[in-house]
Amino acid sequence: MTIETLSEQDTFEFGRRLGKKAAPGEIYTLIGDLGAGKTVFTKGFAEGLGIRETVNSPTFTIVQVYEEGRLPFYHFDVYRIGNIEEMDEIEYEDYFFGDGVCLIEWADLIRELLPEKVKRIEISKDLEKGFDYRKIMVSDL
Ligand code: ADP
Ligand code: MG
Repeated sequence: MTIETLSEQDTFEFGRRLGKKAAPGEIYTLIGDLGAGKTVFTKGFAEGLGIRETVNSPTFTIVQVYEEGRLPFYHFDVYRIGNIEEMDEIEYEDYFFGDGVCLIEWADLIRELLPEKVKRIEISKDLEKGFDYRKIMVSDL
């Protein structure tokens, strides 16, 4: 499925809708360049899960845990990961195979660790269609 958004609010809303439907054990992978809108999507997704706290990309940690929503929410941003062992150090398997919902920005950087059954969300720009245009391709939802 592919959807198109024309504003940050549209992308947030799309994330919110998916967050509302998210189920325990699911892993959402977010792919897209810097500034594509992964974090915007994530903020909407978190709101959909019932999280009121502001969600930002974890800068000094790989994962940020939010417990106040309908399900535990594990927000990963692996952009700055140096090597894959950093994932072992945080015991990522507890998150991936737990009962919460994982969302991973820059998931392609840890491709070898991803289980087969993940949901993939790829956000891209197309400057010919305007600065705020985004194409969002989703698979396995
Ligand atoms: P990423 O996490 O992918 O690096 P961010 O979500 O932090 O990107 O930033 C996306 C930027 O693009 C924000 O400044 C946002 O306002 C802007 N933007 C413009 N149009 C859109 C859109 N349609 N969807 C999402 N973000 C958009
Ligand atoms: Mg981000």
